[in-house]
Amino acid sequence: MKEILLCKYGEIVLKGANRKSFEDMLGREMKKRASAYGNFDIYRAQSTIYVEPKDDEADMDGMFEAASKVFGIVAIARAAVCEKNMEAISRTAKEYVPQFLAGKKTFKVESKRSDKAFALDSMEISREIGGDILEACPHIRVDVHHPDVIVKVEIREFGAYISAGQFKGAGGMPVGSNGKGLLLLSGGIDSPVAGWMLAKRGVRLDAIHFESFPYTSERAREKVLELAQIVSEYAGDIFVHVVSLTHIQEELVKACEEDYFTLLLRRYMMTIAEKVAREKGCAALITGESLGQVASQTMQALGVTDAAVNLPVFRPCIGMDKEEIVTIARKIGTFETSIQPYEDCCTVFTPRHPRTKPELEKVLVQENKLDFNALVEEAMGTLYTVHIKAEY
Ligand code: ATP
Ligand code: MG
Repeated sequence: MKEILLCKYGEIVLKGANRKSFEDMLGREMKKRASAYGNFDIYRAQSTIYVEPKDDEADMDGMFEAASKVFGIVAIARAAVCEKNMEAISRTAKEYVPQFLAGKKTFKVESKRSDKAFALDSMEISREIGGDILEACPHIRVDVHHPDVIVKVEIREFGAYISAGQFKGAGGMPVGSNGKGLLLLSGGIDSPVAGWMLAKRGVRLDAIHFESFPYTSERAREKVLELAQIVSEYAGDIFVHVVSLTHIQEELVKACEEDYFTLLLRRYMMTIAEKVAREKGCAALITGESLGQVASQTMQALGVTDAAVNLPVFRPCIGMDKEEIVTIARKIGTFETSIQPYEDCCTVFTPRHPRTKPELEKVLVQENKLDFNALVEEAMGTLYTVHIKAEY
């Protein structure tokens, strides 16, 4: 029996001229992913991308899993394809549908006949196939109002399609449809989630990671690259730019008041991130900050941080509780990596009494004790880039 995937994309976001580029992006993304799972024909019709295996070697389970990570796809159904006659449709339904009804109580059949030359109308098809399914699955009942599973029979131009239930897709918009942003990626729980959330809105990601060797270890950096690798399963390839803050941190400790270390460091980070963003064509910075989570994430502290840059700073986790962020981290698979205990540059030289309501003028007094621009330039000189290739 031949099985295909029907991947539906939302209509709401498809406006005018954008529609075509949106569809092209989705098509390209599906093709890229499909190449890892065998030979597929990928084409679209009626707000659906059809993924059709060309031979028996194609890995449909793998492809289904991969399709469920494509932003822009709202629902995925597996469907059996057969010839357009009632005998073939009946036989296929009896053979294919029961696996989807195991453990379910009720179902109904909905039929659609785009090919009006087909002998039976949709009511007749539903009635007949419903009867076949009842025969094949004696445990199940018909419920036309609130069925557990909707079995769909569609008579289309080239054949009949039978599906039983659809699965939620990743939602959102195709990556690349909303520009490129630079994610400040630490090894924590929040920033990979923040990156994933913006990728879901169609933003292609570059990432910047700050390290402080030898205060931070090789293993800490590997952890961050591993996180980028996981996010890339959704977001596509990510270039991770790694910058050393060692010298800046050592100078801060020597020259500035301890209470301001974290804030000053964050202003350096943002300034460097802005420079890298502009070089790499990113129009926004993305961080994993959440209001009130730590001293540097109060309104005043975020204000002081933002005052260092002239790019929009997206903080998708700002209104989320840790628990909500953790739920997403688990869902996307970053959580287990994030909780591995390695140091971050923010956790070396942390002040005992960080300022929670800093005033910009006082921060600047501290900042001006050092040659800010020279230190930023020097740090830029340490930048190297790791290309994380998405493995689907
Ligand atoms: P996370 O779980 O993402 O590490 P956090 O709650 O630990 O966040 P902070 O350590 O204060 O918060 O960092 C706030 C944000 O600053 C992070 O979400 C991340 O976007 C950025 N950030 C922190 N450390 C680094 C780093 N070493 N490299 C790049 N970005 C960083
Ligand atoms: Mg952190």
